[in-house]
Parts: sequence; structure tokens; C-alpha cells
Amino acid sequence: MGMAGPFIAPTDKQRTRTAPLAVAIIAVLTLSAGAQTRIEPHKNSYSPQQDVELGRQAAAEVRQQLPLVNDQTTEGFVEEIGQRLVDEIPDYLQQPAFRYSFDVVNLKEINAFALPGGPMFLHRGMIEAARTDAEVAGVMAHELSHVILRHGTAQATKGQKFQIGAIAGQVLGAIVGGRTGSVISQGSQVGLGVYFLKYGREYEREADLLGAQIMARAGYDPRQMANMFRTIEQQNRSAAPEWLSDHPDPGNRYEAILREAETLQVEGPAPQGEIDDVHARLARMSPAPTTQQVARAQQQGRQPGPVGTSGRTAQVERPSAQWQTVEPGEFVRLRVPANWQQTSSGGGTVTYAPQGGYVRTQDGQSAFTHGLELGVMQADGGSLQQNTEQLLQLFARTNPDLRRQGGYSRTSIAGRQGLTTTLSNVSEVTGEREAINMSTVQLSDGSLLFLLGVAPADEAQTYFNTFGRVRQSVQLMDRIP
Ligand SMILES: [Zn+2]
Repeated sequence: MGMAGPFIAPTDKQRTRTAPLAVAIIAVLTLSAGAQTRIEPHKNSYSPQQDVELGRQAAAEVRQQLPLVNDQTTEGFVEEIGQRLVDEIPDYLQQPAFRYSFDVVNLKEINAFALPGGPMFLHRGMIEAARTDAEVAGVMAHELSHVILRHGTAQATKGQKFQIGAIAGQVLGAIVGGRTGSVISQGSQVGLGVYFLKYGREYEREADLLGAQIMARAGYDPRQMANMFRTIEQQNRSAAPEWLSDHPDPGNRYEAILREAETLQVEGPAPQGEIDDVHARLARMSPAPTTQQVARAQQQGRQPGPVGTSGRTAQVERPSAQWQTVEPGEFVRLRVPANWQQTSSGGGTVTYAPQGGYVRTQDGQSAFTHGLELGVMQADGGSLQQNTEQLLQLFARTNPDLRRQGGYSRTSIAGRQGLTTTLSNVSEVTGEREAINMSTVQLSDGSLLFLLGVAPADEAQTYFNTFGRVRQSVQLMDRIP
């Protein structure tokens, strides 16, 4: 539920984002600009159709196990870049059977991976860390190069064979990596992890150089790929260097990319600056969980959300059994679960939400996926029901998918007659369906006090119980009309 209305005061603090370290790449001067490097595919005993089949199975598992960011702006952004790059695959490396797709997984790390035959997954953390469209294109061109050079099945050709169809249960473990990854994987992690996601130096060098060539043809400055790798390297000092362990530096990585860039002509410029919109969208969502958090939740039998859902963090704690008394205004006192914090106040509204259930948007408005908002709407005359209808219309202005699910039921609030109704909405934070429990009661000056409980539709049952208890705890200290 995202709200804007006359009763919403802008938050006092604008959200501040940490800008990635500025990195300047100093161009290496080369005395003679040579011809671009021609990269040849390796010996491969698998058919391109088998690449497609392996990738299809693995991608299905990824989509089932990892939360996706189903945001149109973000998806459109990576799909556009992906398509530009695919259009510029050199003729001698075309694979007509391949089916390319580009998805964003809601994971915090700066990472990306591509599966045989075409499916590519970018971590939200990578898009957040990138400063330009071309930096994103750099990572994607590198991943795409592994795909079209068929590096996954080329590695498998040299090593241990794996059976198509035997990769179930290995995808998440391979992506998480390390000891946690092996625990999660059913059986051997060798097949997927080693062959599809981790490459040796030779393949890395090829993906860097071919990626640079494809970037230039698609209108991106290939030196920005080198910039992005440097950003990854610097940010990974404090985080697990997953991307780097999967894509090891083949040696003099930056210099090699820059040298290749010298041989390349950047064709008509690709769009720039579209990443700014994407950054703004992502900043409005709950922070992405880490892969480890998602993996741990799965081990404990919790799902990261239904297939195809998104932005929602998997780690919102349930309402605690302990309760606390809060006094958001001089005239009202109520009880809420002890693990809900007051997350914004002023202008007549206060939100109580659990960790991860609340987003402060850049334009200073509130948006939350779990929790309760309490506010007051000024009203001049009118019945309780008329004023409640008016309030709903205000909400509907900023929440176009808001629908009332049934009639009003009379409920007692602080000993007065109140109204309670259920609404459905599509969360602007996650794009998922959410359920809203709204109660209203009139104050002595005729204004309307409202309680708005919000929860994802599939958690409505738990939360509606909590909202009911909150409603029963309300005490009003204004003069009784
Ligand atoms: Zn690589």
C-alpha cells in the first residue's frame, strides 16, 4: 500500500543512497592498434539443442527457488540491453536454437549468471551497483559470450559427464556456492556449479574480449565493462566475492579489455541514462535479501514467495507474541506487536511495521507491505460511512488497483461505533496482491480516525488476526461527541 494524500506529511529525511566509488579508468595507450581478436568456440560433444534443454531445466528451477524482481521498468531495461546485445552476436557464432531471456533476481549480491542455451539472471545488487547503462551491458555481454561460446557444455565435454535431467536440486546450491551451497544441493554439486557457473581463465579471457566486441557493435563503450569489473572488485572486499570466484581474473583483465577496445569502433550510441529510472524504482522496494538468507529460508521450509513474484523481501518477521503500548498522538493509545517499529510520523499518520515491511520512498511518501497505518482525515460534516467513502476515494487516487472486497461491518472501536471493511490492492512495492483491513471511527471534532492494516494476500489470515487485536486495543482520549 502506498499512500499520498492531504494527511501525509513528507518524511523529514530524504533517503540517502551510497554512491558507488567513483572509478576512473585511465586509458592505456597502445602504439599500434591491431585487429580485433577472433574468438573460436571450443570442442563440444553436446548439441546446441542439449544446451537449450539443460538451460531450460536449470532456469525453471531458478525461477522456482529465487525471488524475481517483477518490475516492468527494471525488466524492460535489462531486456532492451539484452536484445541489443543479442542482435550483435557475430554471424559465425549465431545459435538459432538458443532462446535468450533476461531476468532480475531479487538478491543483494553484485552478481549475474547465465545458463546454457540463453537464460540470463542478473542480481538486483549488480544493477544497483552499476553506474551506467553500459556497465550493466558489460556484465551482460560477458555472460552472453559464455552462452554463445557454449562454455558450460564445452567444460563438461572435457570433464565429468552429467545427465540431462539430473540437475534438479543443484541450481540454488550452485548459485549460493561454498559450504552452504553444498548443503543445499541434493547430491553432487559438481555438474552445475563447476560446469555452468564457474569458468577458468581461458574462458574468462574469451568472454571478456568477445563481450567487448559485442558491446561496441551494440553501441556501448567496451571500456565500461572494465569499469564494472573494477566496481565489483572494490565492493567485494567486504562481501563474498562470488562473481569473481565464478569469473576469475584471467590476468591483466582491465588492460586486456582496454587493449581490445582500442581495436573496436563503437557503433551508433545505445540509449544512456535509463538506469536512473531503474535505480529510483529499486530504491523504493524493500532491500533485497542475500542469497544466503533466501537459501536459509528455503532450508527451513519457507518459500521466498510464489513463483514469479518479486520485490518482496522474504524475511519479514511474523507479528511477535509480545505486544507494546504506543501513543502516536495525545488523543489515541493502542497496542501493536513488539516487533513493529514506528516508521514515520507527522501530518496525522503513523506507520507501525516490522523490519523489512516498510519502504521510505524517495519522494518522501510511505509505502509498506506489512503493518499498520494510523491517521486522521479532516471531515466537515457527513456520516461515518460518507466520510469513510471519501477516504477510500482519496486512497484510490494513488492506488489505482484498490478495490473494496465486501460491505462495511459495524465494529466497536474504543466503545464507539466504527466501520471495518476489507480491500484488495496491488502493492506498488512488490507488484503482488495485498489485502487491507480498514477501520474508521469518528473523533469528537468530526474528523475521521482510520486504521489501515496491510499484508500480502497470502499472509492475510495471520495479519488480519493481529489487526483485529490492535483495533480492540484502541483507546481514545478526545472528548466524546
Ligand atoms: Zn565469466
